Amino acid sequence: MSEGTRLICRILDSIRDDYILVVNQERRIVYVNTPFLEHFGYRREEIVGKLCHEMSRPFHEPCTAAQGQCPLDKTLSLGKPQTTILTRIWHGQRLSYEAMFYPLQDEGLVGPMVVGVFRDITTKRQLEQELRHRHEFESRLIRISIDGIIANDRQGNILIYNEGAQKILGYRPDEVIGKLNVAQLYPPGLAREIKKKIYSEDYGGPGKLENFETVLKGKDEILVPVWLSACLIYEDDQEVGVVGFFRDISERKRMEEKLLQNERLATVGKMAAHIGHEIKNPLMLIGGFARQVQRSASLDEKDQRKLQIIQEETERLERFLTDLGSFTRVSAPHKKPGEIIAIIHDVAEMMEPSFKEQEVEFSLQQPSEVPIFSFDSGQLRQVFLNLFKNALEAMPTGGELRVQVETVDHDLHLIVADTGQGIPPQVQKELFNPFFTTKDKGTGLGLAISRQIIEQHQGDITIESEVRRGTRCIIRLPME
Ligand code: ADP
Ligand code: MG
Repeated sequence: MSEGTRLICRILDSIRDDYILVVNQERRIVYVNTPFLEHFGYRREEIVGKLCHEMSRPFHEPCTAAQGQCPLDKTLSLGKPQTTILTRIWHGQRLSYEAMFYPLQDEGLVGPMVVGVFRDITTKRQLEQELRHRHEFESRLIRISIDGIIANDRQGNILIYNEGAQKILGYRPDEVIGKLNVAQLYPPGLAREIKKKIYSEDYGGPGKLENFETVLKGKDEILVPVWLSACLIYEDDQEVGVVGFFRDISERKRMEEKLLQNERLATVGKMAAHIGHEIKNPLMLIGGFARQVQRSASLDEKDQRKLQIIQEETERLERFLTDLGSFTRVSAPHKKPGEIIAIIHDVAEMMEPSFKEQEVEFSLQQPSEVPIFSFDSGQLRQVFLNLFKNALEAMPTGGELRVQVETVDHDLHLIVADTGQGIPPQVQKELFNPFFTTKDKGTGLGLAISRQIIEQHQGDITIESEVRRGTRCIIRLPME
């Protein structure tokens, strides 16, 4: 061996982590470096001079030479480097190698050869796999969290948007990621305010916002009240974005609202009962005396008219007190099994003269069979009376009053629809408030009473309306 060759061999031996093998065009091994021998457990004379596939194979896979897929052959025929991953089992452990084959053109002495370099990448692969698993696990955590999670970069571009967020806001991830700016998920101006709070010290420390009550804007402009926590994300001390976690609190808000409403009602109710009691007797006296005076005295027409008005107005006040009484006294329902359809017929029959007079056409649509279930017939009669009266009052020049009864699972749906003047959107949320009325002589108690009754039957009542088109009152009653 010449000095030069020895030097080259020494150099190749010093590359400790690369196991090097050189074969000629017959696939005969002409050289291996010492790290190769040490790593795979061969002595040099055992393999040098042997055909590559005769070497008791260090790798686990069957030799692909026979199938014409030998990377050595490929390297030789194409004259281009080839890379492949090989594995072997060693003491029960699976080891992975990256194998690179380089063509070596030496036309002069020995003809074309291939240099194979093997590198153990087992640890690298394990790390990669671990990272991948961890990444998948974390992604899954984010995905399935019931809290909404949204992360955005410094410009506000949304990068992460999980299932929770989709449930709360209604957008699908593909409508949001890379498409919307996070500021578009807030009502105008709010995003900037929130950002200021995150930077400030006062909401859980600088760079953090904890359990802050705010609103987000979802699909179709719906506003969702949420509890929001957020924090800045740093990478190498550089601020790269913000992640926000939020929880829908609309149900909670509704409950709070309702509690407050009930409390208010209870107070109003007590006061009303007291006032009603104080007023009722003098009112009856006033009305009675007016009637007496009107009958006895020979009054001129003007005074007659005044007495008439006194009577009418006292009657109206008495009716108001009766309404008020039924409102403050909506007691626990006395439920008995009955036929709801019969109740509707009763009320319709009672109001028949008014329907006729106002040219309102009444119709009832019902399924072939409505189950008998328990309810307080007096109270439900009152509900239909209130709703029919409202419908009539909304159709002074005639129209249609349609009642539709449907059974949906264990619920009964009762829809009272009119073709009247409708309700402008801005007052729709006031309708059930006691004393809310748009009528000169209204009490504003009809719907408040109806809702109380329906809720005492574990149901709910909602109203949909369109101005000049009509109104639909939808009652849902569970039939236990
Ligand atoms: P009142 O009838 O005494 O005004 P209600 O509680 O029955 O009180 O109704 C409250 C208000 O709701 C009414 O004043 C009216 O503005 C509106 N409303 C209720 N039902 C209808 C309806 N069918 N069509 C139009 N407006 C309605
Ligand atoms: Mg009414």
